[in-house]
Amino acid sequence: MSYNNIETALIHGGISIDERTGAVNVPIYQTSTFKQDGLGKMRGYEYSRTGNPTREALEALIAELEGGYAGFAFASGLAAETAVLSLLHTGDRVLISSNVYGGTFRLLNQVFDHFGINYTISDTEDPAAFEKDITDDVKAVLIESPANPLMTITDIRAVADIAHRHGLLVIVDNTFMTPYLQRPIELGADIVVHSATKYLGGHSDVVAGLAVVKTKELAEKLAFIQNSTGGVLPPFDSFLLIRGIKTLGVRLDRHVENAVAAAEYLSANEAVKSVHYPGLPTDKGYEVNKRQAKNGGVMISFELTEGHDIEKFFESLELITLAESLGGVESLVCHPSTMTHASIPEEIRKKVGITDGLIRLSIGIENISDILADLEKAIKASEVK
Ligand SMILES: *Cc1c(COP(=O)(O)O)cnc(C)c1O
Repeated sequence: MSYNNIETALIHGGISIDERTGAVNVPIYQTSTFKQDGLGKMRGYEYSRTGNPTREALEALIAELEGGYAGFAFASGLAAETAVLSLLHTGDRVLISSNVYGGTFRLLNQVFDHFGINYTISDTEDPAAFEKDITDDVKAVLIESPANPLMTITDIRAVADIAHRHGLLVIVDNTFMTPYLQRPIELGADIVVHSATKYLGGHSDVVAGLAVVKTKELAEKLAFIQNSTGGVLPPFDSFLLIRGIKTLGVRLDRHVENAVAAAEYLSANEAVKSVHYPGLPTDKGYEVNKRQAKNGGVMISFELTEGHDIEKFFESLELITLAESLGGVESLVCHPSTMTHASIPEEIRKKVGITDGLIRLSIGIENISDILADLEKAIKASEVK
């Protein structure tokens, strides 16, 4: 099939038509095993942990969208990260961006540490500072850009160039941007990971993870790990993701339009002390982000000025739902220090700037005036009289 644009690839990429019947959607192959026509005579599939046609269609789609050699689908974003980090060995160290997703931190800090795989928090925002953190045992870097929850931007190309000079594997968590807004492999990444639970699924109805690797060699290693550790995505959830990805472009266009309006509203509001959104020209990551991504994405975090009761703010929101997660069509809000980032020890949270007053918004695709009215009402209600 020939096309040149990602909007089209979202719909027709990977394996989009069922060869046998012509169905325009890949069927849900809800089967654990496959008939063999004789000893060693398989028709391409043998057991669904190893390979399933619905999952394979999704894996081909995400590989195409990210411009990688192969894709892999897992039961969650953290299962994808677990598989990718399993490429490391005892004694290896990974550098991680200074505000990564709390679960990524916990995975390294409380699980991989059992196996002697170490991590160092590195200020990847500053490539020179990052290079100083590369000791002999460092074998990989895991970047989030924008990083969660302060939306700090890492110059992916600059960090990847330095990392490659030192022989490191470059892993980018592209959950917040998706390949529609940012394509890390083109910027030098070796592996891209996703919590597909977020924008790729897009409807807050599936938990899933994806990984895309750049080379055949990495594909062979990760396929082996995926099959050996077994955290694969079921056929029905694979179908839901394929379905979600078809509308990613139109959803994100609207999400971003709303996010820009919300960030501008918050910036102009006297009750707001700080706004973190890389799509605002005043944001410190704006220039770098503009070079490497289509726009500033959707996620915003902000703090209210003194004299506002944050608990009251959360209680007074009606439309915007207080919940973990992000990236669904509905607007969600969260309190990173007690929710998404609670597993990061307080002294580290303080050091990287995740204050108790920080509020994180995932702007949905509702009518923007309803979103702004809800924010306005809750900000007013939170004033301490
Ligand atoms: C949610 C999230 C994850 C974890 O993904 P799950 O699907 O919840 O396991 C990893 N990275 C980022 C940036 C996330 O937002």
